[in-house]
Amino acid sequence: MRQIAIYGKGGIGKSTTTQNLTAGLAAIGKNILIVGCDPKADSTRLILGGLAQKTVLDTLREEGEDIDLDFIMKKGFGGIKCVESGGPEPGVGCAGRGIITSINMLEQLGAYTEDIDYVFYDVLGDVVCGGFAMPIREGKAQEIYIVASGEMMALYAANNISKGIQKYALTGGVRLGGIICNSRNVDGEAELVEAFAKELGTQMIHFVPRDNMVQRAEIHKQTVIEFDPTALQAEEYRTLARKIDENQLFVIPKPMKQERLEEILMAHGLMDI
Ligand code: ADP
Ligand code: MG
Repeated sequence: MRQIAIYGKGGIGKSTTTQNLTAGLAAIGKNILIVGCDPKADSTRLILGGLAQKTVLDTLREEGEDIDLDFIMKKGFGGIKCVESGGPEPGVGCAGRGIITSINMLEQLGAYTEDIDYVFYDVLGDVVCGGFAMPIREGKAQEIYIVASGEMMALYAANNISKGIQKYALTGGVRLGGIICNSRNVDGEAELVEAFAKELGTQMIHFVPRDNMVQRAEIHKQTVIEFDPTALQAEEYRTLARKIDENQLFVIPKPMKQERLEEILMAHGLMDI
């Protein structure tokens, strides 16, 4: 069982990419569990056909501690099992709390069965701290991918996330598997993200184009893989899935100093000199 955490700045495309790529993995026969670790609880909508999955935290609040696994885990496209951790009411308590509770609950209820090939944690956050670090701090996920684009803020966030990963990698076994570039159609984007990844000591594992097909599928509450498996974008997600399935490059990232990051951005025309 490979346990993978997906990190990246809010709105960058973590949930979209995770669901499409896991749909791609399911299509080649892999058995998958997605654990949504964003209080927004929208990590599994496209797999479940829009069905609002009741979160672990809400279920515990309403049903008490004595719950069955099928209260919190639903199967969707390709047999993918879906869990949403949820979060506290806004302004109350640490938003990362839901993740800790939910992973503990899944363990207790025996969700991590032998037949699962991949567990994906879709985790929010510009930095890896508190509860949001839980999947990697406690050694649940051994492998991380960061979703980024060629935009400055996305790369700042990716660099910050790498600082967190470095910290936990030095004390535990977690490794960075690569940067997934989710394109924003910025000029020279692939070259910039590739240079950034190289500086971190990792790779740009795939360049996912920006494509309106994603929105079209989203309106139908589906991944592109389900909505139109013949679409070019579906092939991009299947390629990403294959690259992750075959990945051999796992590193402790070397986050860069602010000045170095700015140099790289400047060299690619992103900042005024
Ligand atoms: P995150 O989970 O990182 O907060 P989402 O996956 O929810 O971000 O993505 C935000 C929005 O960006 C999605 O609703 C989707 O419409 C859009 N999006 C993501 N990736 C792509 C893409 N490759 N092409 C077009 N639109 C995309
Ligand atoms: Mg999300």
